[in-house]
Parts: sequence; structure tokens; C-alpha cells
Amino acid sequence: MADVVAARTLTRRAFVASTGAGLIAAPLATLGAAGANAADAKPGAGAAPGAGMPGAPPRAVGRPMPELERPLADPPERRLGWAVVGLGDFALNHMLPAIARSRHCRLTAVVSGNRDKARAVAAAYGVPERGVYDYDGFDRIRDDPTVDVVYIVLPNTLHAEWTVRAAQAGKHVFCEKPMAATEAECRQMIDACAKAGRRLMIAYRAPFEPHNREAIRMIRAGEIGPVREIVADHGRPLEPKKPADEWRAQAALAAGGSLYDIGIYSLNGARYLTGEEPIELRATFRKPPGSPGPDGRPVDVDQGIAWTMRFPSGAIAHCTSAYDFANVKRIQVMGEKASLALDPATEYEGNRLLVRRETGQMEPKLGESSEQFVGELDEFAMAIRENREPRHGSGREGLQDVRLMQLIYEAARTGRPVAVPPLR
Ligand code: NDP
Repeated sequence: MADVVAARTLTRRAFVASTGAGLIAAPLATLGAAGANAADAKPGAGAAPGAGMPGAPPRAVGRPMPELERPLADPPERRLGWAVVGLGDFALNHMLPAIARSRHCRLTAVVSGNRDKARAVAAAYGVPERGVYDYDGFDRIRDDPTVDVVYIVLPNTLHAEWTVRAAQAGKHVFCEKPMAATEAECRQMIDACAKAGRRLMIAYRAPFEPHNREAIRMIRAGEIGPVREIVADHGRPLEPKKPADEWRAQAALAAGGSLYDIGIYSLNGARYLTGEEPIELRATFRKPPGSPGPDGRPVDVDQGIAWTMRFPSGAIAHCTSAYDFANVKRIQVMGEKASLALDPATEYEGNRLLVRRETGQMEPKLGESSEQFVGELDEFAMAIRENREPRHGSGREGLQDVRLMQLIYEAARTGRPVAVPPLR
């Protein structure tokens, strides 16, 4: 498991992008030479008539390895085995299919309080009966050599306990956002993984989404000039009768409200787009905890909050988060030379990026937004294999968002600006 990825799993493009030309050239050149018929190497063997140049021969022959769009998948026995804890809406509709599409991961266990559902899901994904766990029997996963990674997709306040249990069982942990309820819990999670010598990644998918990646690239490359302002809005209607929203309306399971659930995309987005950490926050509740929900009954958690963040460069982010908007997931970045509009910015599918300059506007054609799910899974697999922190979504990253969300609530409660102490 600690082995580095085989050279053949890297694309030339990915390799050149990360390390320069050298190492990958050899295996690909070897494949190219081995794949081509020796006769084809003769000058003019496949020459196009009259062209005088070597070309493809007019018969069926092997050709060199093409430049791959993405790495070859690992064979099943080399993939990291994943156990998914909590078979709810997001796990079943998005992440289990993504594990099946990933290049370095495979599903080897499911953990659920509903045995019938767990068996049906296991059968659908080819997980054997011994890979079906319930919550009480979870700790025997320690002795399951097919499980390398435990993926926590439970309601928010359960993330800390289950991350610690998974680390204590000797497994790497991939945990859904928000990392936990409090800063103290985040630190316990980080410490438990460090003590067990296991990796931890918080499942932020947007930085692996092609339109967000392009926006990050453009900003880092200076293509829009210094960032002056960001406007980020995330909202959707809360539907407390839907099972997945039932717990979101209860502080005991959700920890926070719209901010912890979807406002976190405005917050994390402003951080990964600027590449900076905020130094000051101001916030206002529009619908504080205890306000009536869609059915008129009070809801424990915030349903509407607006905040601003000031960054060391002078950039300011204006953010909103709500459980009573029509669906909106939008981030705009105003730079000195150009502006970017990600709208939608953080949907599962169909995100878009519009670039506006003095000279006009363009919408680059980029990859499918659904690449974000596979992207985050495979990034964690590579971080484990290469024994490094994930490029986005370290425990520290998750901790910083939870700290900031707590400070945003404090600023909203007190009505006063809050200075953000640096993260220790
Ligand atoms: P769901 O309610 O659909 O699923 C949660 C699952 O957790 C349940 O199905 C259940 O699984 C298990 N569970 C265990 N105890 C409880 C409990 N007391 N109450 C409710 N469920 C319980 O939620 P989601 O799938 O929407 O969200 C799960 C997590 O994923 C959250 O942390 C959320 O923030 C995150 N998420 C992340 C997204 C992203 O884009 N990164 C998108 C959506 C959610 P079982 O029946 O198998 O025991």
C-alpha cells in the first residue's frame, strides 16, 4: 500500500505537469517500442504514398501508447478498499457510483443501521456478506484486511466519534464536510489519525471540479490580476419532511444550520480562490436559530446568515447562506484585470465558468463537473500511497472552516467584528 504509483498509471500530461519530463518518458517510450512491430521501424515502412515521411502502415499493427486523458485504472487487487459508513442520500446517489468509477479505489465494505438496505447495496456493488457491518459491530473492521479507508457519511455531529473509531481500528479516514461540530472535535480527529499513523481527508469536492480548478489556476497565474472582491451565495429550501433534511433541522445532529451545510461552500470557496486566510469577520443572521421553518415550527439551526471576510491582501468576500432561497450555488470573483463568474459553482453536475474582460467575455469548455467526486477519492488514494497530505481537504483545512464558522456565528450573535487568530 505504501508503494508509489506505478509509472504506467500516470499520464504523460499529468506527469509532466507535476514533475517535468524525465521519469515517465521511459516507460511510455518502452511501451511505444514494444507495441510497434519491428518492421514498422524501418524507414518508410508505413509511408503515405508520395509523402516521403514515415507513417502508419496500411494493415493492423500495434501502435505506441497514446497520450492518456487520465491515468489508467489500477487492477482491482491494487486498489484501496473503502468501507462506507452511512448509506444515505449522498452516499448512495453520488459517492458509491463514484467509487465504482474511480481509478484507485474499490468498495469492500458497507456500514449501516439498516441491514436489509446494507445487504442490497453490498450485493449491487459486489461486496461479500462479510463486508456488511452494523454500527455495533463496526470495531471488528480492524481485522478486515480488505478495508484500507473508512468513509464517514453520517450526520455532522457523528463525524468526530466515527473518525476516531475508524482511526483506532487502524484505517485511513475520509470524512464528509463539515469536519465536525467544534474545533476541539476537529483536533481530536486529527490527533487520533496522527496517533494511529493514518491519513485523514475531509471530503471537499469543489476544488476537484474542473470549472473551480480552472478558476483557481487563472487566479494563481495572475490572469485576472489581484482579487479585489468575492461574492459567494449558497442557498436551497430546507425540507424537514425529507429524511436527509430531518437531521439537518436538529442542532444535535447538524451542529450548525445552513452555514455548516451549504454556506461552507461560500466560505471554503473564498479561501481556495484567494489562497488566503481571512483576518476579520462580520456577520448578520437573517434567520437565526429558533426562527420558524417552512412549516411554521421553530428550527434549531440558522436558516439565513450573511457575512463578510477581510483577507490580508485587502480582498473582501461577501457571502450568504440560506435554507429559504431557491437553489443558488454561485461564486463571483472580481479581479483588477478580469472577473470570473462560477454559476453554478458547486452543483454536482453542470457547473459553468464565465470569464469577463474589457475585451469581451468567454466561457471555456472544460471537463464534466461529475469528475469532482472521482477526483477527491483518487486524490486521497494517491495521498495515502505517496504518504503525503491530500492537496486539498487536510484535517487542518477542515478544522479551519469549523473555526471560521464558529467565529461567524459569534460575530452574528454579538453584532461585532471578530478578529481571526491565526491557526496554530
Ligand atoms: P442522509 O440523511 O441521507 O444520510 C445519512 C445516513 O447516516 C443515514 O442514511 C443513516 O445511514 C446514517 N445515520 C446514522 N445515524 C443517523 C441518525 N441519527 N440520523 C440520520 N441518519 C443517521 O444524509 P446525507 O447523505 O445528505 O448527508 C450525510 C453527510 O454527507 C453529511 O455530513 C453531509 O454534510 C454530507 N454531504 C456532503 C455532500 C457533499 O457534496 N460533499 C452532499 C450531501 C451531504 P444508514 O441508514 O445506512 O444507517
